[in-house]
Amino acid sequence: MAEDCLFCKISRGDFKTEFLYQSPTLVAFRDIHPKAPTHVLFVPTAHYATLNDVPSADDTIMTEITQAIQKIAKAEGVDQSGYRVITNINRHGGQEVFHLHVHLLGGRQLGSMG
Ligand code: AMP
Ligand code: ZN
Repeated sequence: MAEDCLFCKISRGDFKTEFLYQSPTLVAFRDIHPKAPTHVLFVPTAHYATLNDVPSADDTIMTEITQAIQKIAKAEGVDQSGYRVITNINRHGGQEVFHLHVHLLGGRQLGSMG
């Protein structure tokens, strides 16, 4: 837990956020400013500032994120139409919240990257 980290607080339930997925190590909830009809964030309960900071000792979190994405994409009905998975890292990545999170965006045609 990092003091004053928004996603630490959300993932431990401080704001009574509705979780689409919840385990002791990972939660998923809707982005507050959705960029697509489905915009869900996958947030480890452990505080890793960015993807760069996932320790090699934690060899399960990225697999759990993948499995949770598969479940939520299906539940949201975007698994076949298609969707995008993004994690923004540091300045050039456009990261705003420095607690690792993976975006799932779907439900509309997404534009080209960049
Ligand atoms: P980024 O760090 O650039 O990958 O983006 C952070 C994302 O967190 C943005 O899409 C925000 O809309 C989203 N966000 C910020 N605060 C909240 C919140 N309280 N609940 C849900 N999503 C949030
Ligand atoms: Zn945190």
